[in-house]
Amino acid sequence: MKRILIAICILCCFQSLLQAQDTSYVRKIVKTLSSEQYFGRGYTKQGVQLAADYLEQEMKTIGLTPFLDSYTQDLSYVVNVFPGAYSLKLDNKTFQAGTDYIISPDCGNINGEFEIYEIPLQILKDSAKLCNIKQKKTKNKFVVLHLHELSDRKQSNFIREKISENFLKARGYILVQDVYPIWSISASKNEAVIIRFDKSYFPELAETIELHVESKQKPIETSNLIGYVPGNTDKTIMFTAHYDHLGGIGDSIFFPGAHDNASGVAACLDIARHYIEKPADYRIIIMLFTGEEAGLLGSTYYSLNPLFPLSEIDFLINLDMVGTGSKGITIVNAKDSTYKDAFAKFEAINTQDSLQLKIQARGISANSDHYPFNEQGVRGVFIYSRGGKTFYHNPQDKQQTVSLAAYQEIFKLITKFADQL
Ligand SMILES: [Zn+2]
Repeated sequence: MKRILIAICILCCFQSLLQAQDTSYVRKIVKTLSSEQYFGRGYTKQGVQLAADYLEQEMKTIGLTPFLDSYTQDLSYVVNVFPGAYSLKLDNKTFQAGTDYIISPDCGNINGEFEIYEIPLQILKDSAKLCNIKQKKTKNKFVVLHLHELSDRKQSNFIREKISENFLKARGYILVQDVYPIWSISASKNEAVIIRFDKSYFPELAETIELHVESKQKPIETSNLIGYVPGNTDKTIMFTAHYDHLGGIGDSIFFPGAHDNASGVAACLDIARHYIEKPADYRIIIMLFTGEEAGLLGSTYYSLNPLFPLSEIDFLINLDMVGTGSKGITIVNAKDSTYKDAFAKFEAINTQDSLQLKIQARGISANSDHYPFNEQGVRGVFIYSRGGKTFYHNPQDKQQTVSLAAYQEIFKLITKFADQL
């Protein structure tokens, strides 16, 4: 009896060691991709290209097969980059980009000091009064709007729309909000500068703003990465994730993008390792896309220039931000009636395998790389995790926030789903 117990103990330890190994591989990839070396996998300091080189090597090391003689599919596009000056002062006090504020990525070059015009709260709440502000009061100034004071969502949306039309002919707008500022990528330039300020850093009173921003439009040469594990049947399952992120601002601020989406890339590579070790009878394709943050550019390009007929793909699972999970996962597309069976399958596996994942269904959404494929008739869903403290599109999206709380469960759920398809 004692011997049997010891044997069970050893087996259990071995089992958990195996599981821990899986997570340690995922952690290693997340840590590497979100390190300063790759500078946010964007468009300054060669971030996105260096990340592609690293991932291509990793695909080779783990034993994925390339479709042609390499894993890469090249494409190019133009984005705005901010490689140099990027500073902001309010009444001579310097603020910290990324934490205190972020300037909208469609900002052009700007240098100078400008007057500030603050819109009083009672006017901000009243659409008619807001539209009646005389442009001579605001022309060539920076207009401050305390959006955090508004509880009416309709009114905030109305204001955002008016700002996008530059309704006050201002030089720019400072939106004071009660959330940390988020950044994105843009290819175009806007005449008015939009600055998002975290309200906890915005001063009580500000009269002038001094800005120095150097921005340029840069042509980018980049690549999607594609590899596969061969199968013996016609069935093809594809796992996808974008490896690009937002890059950086100036010389030292960068967006690590650990959760978004080093986590999804790491999961895809881990899934590849699993199938290389224990081959399935179906073909597994792994695609790591570039240009997602610039507008789903890599996945759109692939979906229009596929390396094999898209009709061969039986199902696609896109992973974008799967680094947490204490509150479960969301499956995008699952609410659509054509995915009723697929969603039921996910739920059945969750119950049968006692994964205890809280699975939420969401409707069709063009919010990640599954969408261009769906548009071309490929069936597939997008999965992301919920819960934990995450910093979406912010310099705080670091590997420390990637808890992998539901990683093992997500891994089991999707590989079982592929098996049963
Ligand atoms: Zn993402």
